[in-house]
Amino acid sequence: MYVVEVSAEFNSAHNLIGYKGKCEALHGHNWKVKVSVRSDDLDEVGMVVDFKILKQRLNNVIDKLDHKYLNDLEYFNKTNPTSENIARYIYESMSEDAASPNVASVTVWETDSASATYSRAVIS
Ligand SMILES: [Zn+2]
Repeated sequence: MYVVEVSAEFNSAHNLIGYKGKCEALHGHNWKVKVSVRSDDLDEVGMVVDFKILKQRLNNVIDKLDHKYLNDLEYFNKTNPTSENIARYIYESMSEDAASPNVASVTVWETDSASATYSRAVIS
């Protein structure tokens, strides 16, 4: 099994509805994102996927989040923009692209020491 990962960062604001604490109020984060792609096989060049292509696809998704108030985005109208749900949004957005390689998981860091990961279900 090969695992290929790319990461990116973005800045945005959010507030968490129904959360009793500081994060209920409007505030911002420098989010870090890591996307993992897994494959048992390599292409004829010896790659799972070209890093350049994977980064471009991640950046296309990040562009929709960067310097935005996340609660204003349609996806987060009814879904709290927690790190967990942002990870799922990025996962789903990258998986929508039919040409995109199979994304195995997306991890979002809200701070250097706090992250959330969304991954496809493990089939045993
Ligand atoms: Zn926050």
